[in-house]
Amino acid sequence: MNPQMGLAMPELPEVECVRQMLEPMIVSRTVVGVVVRRRDMVVTPDDPPGGFARSGTLATQARPVHPSELLVGGTITAVLRHGKALAFTSNAGPAVVIHLGMTGSVHPLDGEPGTHTHLIWTFADGVPLAFTDPRRFGGVWCLQSSEALQHRWEALGPDALGVRAAQLRDRLQASARPIKVALLDQHAVAGIGNIYADEALFRAGIDPHSRCDQLNASDWSPLASAIRQVLREGIQAGGASIRDYRRPDGTSGGQQRRLRVYGRLGQPCTKCGSQLAGSRLGGRATVWCPSCQTSR
Ligand SMILES: [Zn+2]
Repeated sequence: MNPQMGLAMPELPEVECVRQMLEPMIVSRTVVGVVVRRRDMVVTPDDPPGGFARSGTLATQARPVHPSELLVGGTITAVLRHGKALAFTSNAGPAVVIHLGMTGSVHPLDGEPGTHTHLIWTFADGVPLAFTDPRRFGGVWCLQSSEALQHRWEALGPDALGVRAAQLRDRLQASARPIKVALLDQHAVAGIGNIYADEALFRAGIDPHSRCDQLNASDWSPLASAIRQVLREGIQAGGASIRDYRRPDGTSGGQQRRLRVYGRLGQPCTKCGSQLAGSRLGGRATVWCPSCQTSR
């Protein structure tokens, strides 16, 4: 995948498209080798929390990663996703979690690795797989087992792609936070970023500044449905961009057309023609329609 695929940052739909691309490529393949080109992009259970890249501790103090921690000797059993995180599980026990951060990508390596390729897996057959991340906000986490992976993901909210109204209500209805801010909290619901929070609130007709505890009982169902819908549409559009990733301009085809509010500050609402308004919420640029989205 071209890391410059024209998206601000990988969100759930982009990560799901990567998962769908990788699944047929690596499941049932045996990992025979791994090259760690940057130790601080890998986090083992013995490392400081978040790993050496985030702890301010020099990675020279890190013990070498044992190849089996990065699945060498095992066969990949699944490529999973929860929220914006990817994971590979193996029949040998260990699992890895991959965060793409802002600029990360996992892609087949055809040719020589680039400067920002931090990790390369090789398989008994098939092309090698590389983790590349120029800005290094992402990383690869080694987990001892699939149970450890499950435990890690249970600490997050339910995956946004399948989120149900009751889950949203139970987790958010007591919060005094603005709904937009709460939706970005990965421990409340996993996988919603800035783009899809704005888009879902537009679809549901809810002003992003509305406090969670002021929402009506009847709001949760349309909101959950809007979240699932915008993410599904994003997957369809992202899938198109990944299939076309060799296009020299690196743009993603349908993205601009499908977004109704994100990035459209000051432009007319696609539904009512009113000028879209903007503000900052939780430090993030927020766009909404003052006519279609009402305050609770
Ligand atoms: Zn409108």
